[in-house]
Amino acid sequence: METSTQAPEPAPDRTPASGPAPRTAAATATTVPAQATAPEAPAGGSAPAAPTTDHEPAADTTVDTSTADTSGAAETSAAAEAVPGAAAGAGREGAGGGGRPAAPPVSLSPSRAGDFMQCPLLYRFRVIDRLPERPSEAATRGTLVHAVLERLFDAPAAERTAPRARALIPGQWDRLRESRPELVELFADDADGERLARWLSEAERLVERWFTLEDPTRLEPAERELFVEAELASGLRLRGIIDRVDVAPTGEVRIVDYKTGKAPRPEYAEGALFQMKFYALVVWRLKRVVPRRLQLVYLGSGDVLTYDPVPADLERIERKLLALWEAIRLATETGDWRPRPTKLCGWCDHRAHCPEFGGTPPPYPLPLAPAAPSPQGRMGAD
Ligand code: SF4
Repeated sequence: METSTQAPEPAPDRTPASGPAPRTAAATATTVPAQATAPEAPAGGSAPAAPTTDHEPAADTTVDTSTADTSGAAETSAAAEAVPGAAAGAGREGAGGGGRPAAPPVSLSPSRAGDFMQCPLLYRFRVIDRLPERPSEAATRGTLVHAVLERLFDAPAAERTAPRARALIPGQWDRLRESRPELVELFADDADGERLARWLSEAERLVERWFTLEDPTRLEPAERELFVEAELASGLRLRGIIDRVDVAPTGEVRIVDYKTGKAPRPEYAEGALFQMKFYALVVWRLKRVVPRRLQLVYLGSGDVLTYDPVPADLERIERKLLALWEAIRLATETGDWRPRPTKLCGWCDHRAHCPEFGGTPPPYPLPLAPAAPSPQGRMGAD
């Protein structure tokens, strides 16, 4: 595996802007424009660490993209803003869909795949039961930072400065609160506003750090917050939201994802790349182009992790996803969703329903088929 963690990356070439970025999962296109920006390269993962902020799209159970939910694992984004009631704690991807009827999963996103690999029971609670989750400060800050970085590209290149980005924060925070009223509970007990001020200040710090890692005056993204969805030959539907797609004049594609957490230690880099290879596979299947580079920008630690995939990488991730989907299918039919306790349980909103913590899951809401051996205990990250 050819990964690299680098400090300030080389400035990418500039490319013509390509129209307004898709703002919501519901409205986004499912293709990557075949034109030009200047790329660089990739990453994704799951070290035993607190969920930070990724974001992805809609819940795996959504059939109609027009109703895609966008909660998910950390770093929610503007996409989540379009989903009233989406669980902030779940990020942009669509966990905790509260209120909708239970339904079998019909597609897979990186966050939900990560849920299943982390703990099958967590996947059930988020995707099948759609239990509500409390908004978290970290995930909500990730959503806010993503929104600011996305909106900054609305400005002419020369005006994409750190002060301008900082100035976007209050307005984007207002928008976020308006679109997700449940966020009011985050600072409900913060009478003097001190905690909110610290939280906003941390968001500023993350935004400012981005300018030490990339130079937005030299970038012209082909897409921002791009909802992608592809169906594999097996019928498995993959979906996700890509933070930014750069396309070089040569046609080379770079997929970029922002993380407000810290870069993983090298031994966990492969896990971190899972999400990015997932996106690369989707883009490959949609456009028949293997992205030249996958790039993770860690605003929490000031690192950039890149990876240049080859077709064999993506074929491998496809095989892995098919195995994962088969395990999910079996668990869905049998109702056999096993808890897998780890350090991450400390961040799980569902301990009260988890047998590992003395809880009882709600009645299984789907029809059951006869039990069969499940491979879910053998799943791991990439
Ligand atoms: S508390 Fe831990 S074991 Fe239980 S559902 Fe949550 S992640 Fe899984």
